[in-house]
Amino acid sequence: MDPLDMIEMEDRYVLPTYAKLPLVLTRGEGAHVFDASGRRYLDLYGGHAVTVIGHSHPRWVEAVSRQAATLGFYSSVSYSAVRAEAARLLVERSYPSMSQVFFCNSGTEANETALKMARKSTGRPLVVAMEGGFHGRTIGALSVTSGKYRQAFPENLADRTRFVPFGDLEAVRAVEPDRVAAVILEPVQSMAGVRIAAEDYYRGLAAHCRERGIVLIFDEVQTGAGRTGRWFAGDHFGVEPGLVTCAKGIGGGFPVGAVIASAEMASRVETGDQGSTFGGGPLASAAIVATFRVLEEEELVERAGRIGARVLARLREMAGRGMVTGARGLGYLIGVDSKLSAKEVQSKLLERGIVVGTSDVPRTFRLLPPLTVGEDDWETFFRALEDLAR
Ligand code: PMP
Repeated sequence: MDPLDMIEMEDRYVLPTYAKLPLVLTRGEGAHVFDASGRRYLDLYGGHAVTVIGHSHPRWVEAVSRQAATLGFYSSVSYSAVRAEAARLLVERSYPSMSQVFFCNSGTEANETALKMARKSTGRPLVVAMEGGFHGRTIGALSVTSGKYRQAFPENLADRTRFVPFGDLEAVRAVEPDRVAAVILEPVQSMAGVRIAAEDYYRGLAAHCRERGIVLIFDEVQTGAGRTGRWFAGDHFGVEPGLVTCAKGIGGGFPVGAVIASAEMASRVETGDQGSTFGGGPLASAAIVATFRVLEEEELVERAGRIGARVLARLREMAGRGMVTGARGLGYLIGVDSKLSAKEVQSKLLERGIVVGTSDVPRTFRLLPPLTVGEDDWETFFRALEDLAR
């Protein structure tokens, strides 16, 4: 089918909830995707921070295909070796205090579940959330997501949320602690333009939560699975949450979600508290296991940290000279401020064969690539960026 016909057909039948790129993708390989005409694009967006091991990695393809041919689906009512292994990997690669996993299918569901667990186990009504934070689009996750995403839903659960500025510990402490079930945050705020707080902020948050019996929830939907150069982002700050939510990267492109619970939180969970038909299904579990094996064997986490730091340093060097005005990030989660709007940068880079992400900040674009992206790919990006400034 002609690419224009494909676009017309999708626009005809799919609800127009997305601002889309003029891109019909047919294939992916490593850090590249290909459009219907066979044109190759360097993917510095990773389908929105998802494809950590690159597109269609042979190990991932083999694992998912073999599982599909063996047992495509059975719910968590039965035991499964591959589910057990996926859970073990999530527990052992996250924080030392983590103990058990609940599987679901997306980031928003993971956050819904974490909020339920915190409210039930504390018996308290309030949740402290961060200005600029993004946690998903379902009603519960929306109630702790700030800004424009919930404006059309004034009746969501946000009357139970207290929003505070990200990075302001005193503001968290000031919310009546005896009524607070949880503090939820992205350790690195992504949609907000990639914002990182001071190290002692995270330590202070963890101490406050510990002292007041509040559940600290880290939304690691983007930062999990090695993106920041550590398996999970709290490691950078020496801080462990009570609950970790993840999705996106952990399945390498297969829809997955998970809540990882510390031993203390796990001990408060009872049979029947939560369920998900598809969560922890064999295909999803096989995808998680394959993704983690590749991350480990190819040492991609360490590599994202090492090369990401170099990319960031280079962007900072550029700041003030050309189009770039600043940059922040950890590993392969980088926000770049520019003179042009992020939308303009995105479309101009797309013309040059590179996909990047925008953010909620009009002049900040984001780099969230597969962790397999190498030095040569970054050279291609820097050349295109310099070309844009001309
Ligand atoms: N949390 C964060 C930090 C996210 O970036 C996202 C998705 N962009 C979500 C939650 C929601 O995940 P999903 O789209 O899988 O529901």
